Amino acid sequence: MKGELFVLKDEKAIVVFSGGQDSTTCLFWALQTFKEVEVVTFNYNQRHKEEIECAKNIAKELNVKHHLLDMHLLNQLAPNALTRDDIEIKEGENGELPSTFVPGRNLIFLSFAAVLASQVGAKHIITGVCETDFSGYPDCRDVFIKSLNVSINLSMDKQFVIHTPLMWLDKSETWKLADELDALDYVREKTLTCYDGVIGDGCGECPACKLRNHGLEKYLKSQEGAEV
Ligand SMILES: [Zn+2]
Repeated sequence: MKGELFVLKDEKAIVVFSGGQDSTTCLFWALQTFKEVEVVTFNYNQRHKEEIECAKNIAKELNVKHHLLDMHLLNQLAPNALTRDDIEIKEGENGELPSTFVPGRNLIFLSFAAVLASQVGAKHIITGVCETDFSGYPDCRDVFIKSLNVSINLSMDKQFVIHTPLMWLDKSETWKLADELDALDYVREKTLTCYDGVIGDGCGECPACKLRNHGLEKYLKSQEGAEV
């Protein structure tokens, strides 16, 4: 990976950062790609306060400036399974959106990230959205991100570039990317993806843990095969 994007080494980037596997992998990618990196975490009354703490700790350990923005109004507008304990986490069936979908979340988060980017003089915005393990979130689609990039630039008369390093990777390929960035153990031990708020390998039972752990097993298995 090193040197591949050396032309960007002079520039500054903001990573949309939750402290989970995906955004932490994006942070490592950004640290290798850009001269200066800051992260932004949105506090919208996530089910688990651990998520914010986890993001704070990682930013501190990796020595990047951490912006924490209060987005509680999102919960006021759109209560859902990620923000309310009394709403069950369900995977979408028969074309329905999963109960974890927060309408407008990426639209709002990326718009605020762009406002922040303009304030701190960053040209690049990185988000860990991914279309491959498509769980039905329409605002994780590549076409949406490209469209939003154009709209944000028109709205502010800027030339921001939104990067989505994970867009076409499945979970095992995201682990592979973390490994290539020498960050596999770090991402595995320090990040929080679990809906039950368990850091690292998680509870093992919730949909987020199943996806994450299945991807890790698949990647580690492929490595065993490669080494034989
Ligand atoms: Zn879990």
